[in-house]
Amino acid sequence: MTGGVDRLAIVGLGLIGSSIARGARTYELAREIVAIDRDAGVIERVRALGLAETATCDPAEGVAGADLVILCVPVGAVGTVAAEIAPHLKPGAVVSDVGSVKAAVVAAVTPHLSETNVFVPAHPVAGTEYSGPDSGFATLFTNRWCILTPAEDADPAAVERVQALWQGLGAIVETMTPEHHDLVLAITSHVPHLIAYNIVGTAADLEEVTQSEVIKFSAGGFRDFTRIAASDPTMWRDIFLTNREAVLEVLGRFNEDLSALSRAIRWGDGEALHDLFTRTRAIRRGIVAMGQETAEPDFGRARGATPPASDRA
Ligand code: NAP
Repeated sequence: MTGGVDRLAIVGLGLIGSSIARGARTYELAREIVAIDRDAGVIERVRALGLAETATCDPAEGVAGADLVILCVPVGAVGTVAAEIAPHLKPGAVVSDVGSVKAAVVAAVTPHLSETNVFVPAHPVAGTEYSGPDSGFATLFTNRWCILTPAEDADPAAVERVQALWQGLGAIVETMTPEHHDLVLAITSHVPHLIAYNIVGTAADLEEVTQSEVIKFSAGGFRDFTRIAASDPTMWRDIFLTNREAVLEVLGRFNEDLSALSRAIRWGDGEALHDLFTRTRAIRRGIVAMGQETAEPDFGRARGATPPASDRA
């Protein structure tokens, strides 16, 4: 066992929670894994898949005696879960999460915890558009970023415990403030998802083009938007409701740039279009060079196969 976790409790055994459970088991990061989910059907699947030593719907029973508790529920539910588990935490137990938004999560969780239970927020920038305990896999976090946003005065030993877990899962850990995280993720993830939801919604509503044509001719770029727009509705609703300011700020800038593009098209300004498309191509190459995406045609996706894990949420 590495990483120093004796009893690891995971609340919410969806894509992320079940991937942590699988990874912790595969890489021997905890002596004992406890799975907690409000959904009895999920707990049944966890047992059938053998993802944890103990699986329960009772948060109080589940977190008792745990050294590290990771909240893997939608961002809108973390405050409620923190309130439920707080009285049952062992003194010194470290609490973490995986939420795609950080400032709102810190505000929702911290007030419930006692001084001995340090909160070390985390966000693994890895995922797929699938949900539930069957969708997770141990290598989801391999070579992906995991961003930690601890308070400045957080106990370094608690931060180290969470960092060691993520490194053990194969992630590359970086630390920043919750506010900076939310702004970075608004531009790299949240607004791109909003654009995908919007374009797919627009295409679905276009009366001159039939639904079947949209599906039939979707290879031309639209298909990749549909993959993003298939992401979990609850999770994404919560992201936009809790990262409102940063999303609106980036969206304002996006709208200005879109107007400039419309103007370039209207006035036949090919140079402006070519300049932008050249700059954006360089960004793609930079992402590939950092090992965060494949340069293979069609995003390395075999036809009909499950898409590779991509940096999401
Ligand atoms: P998911 O597959 O939908 O799983 C969430 C699980 O949490 C479900 O089993 C859900 O049960 C359970 N849950 C919801 N509310 C609960 C509560 N109050 N108490 C106990 N369990 C509860 O979601 P996910 O994709 O793993 O996402 C979980 C978190 O990871 C979110 O905060 C998200 O922002 C973050 N994240 C997601 C991705 C991604 O790409 N998916 C990437 C990075 C981070 P029910 O089915 O009964 O609701």
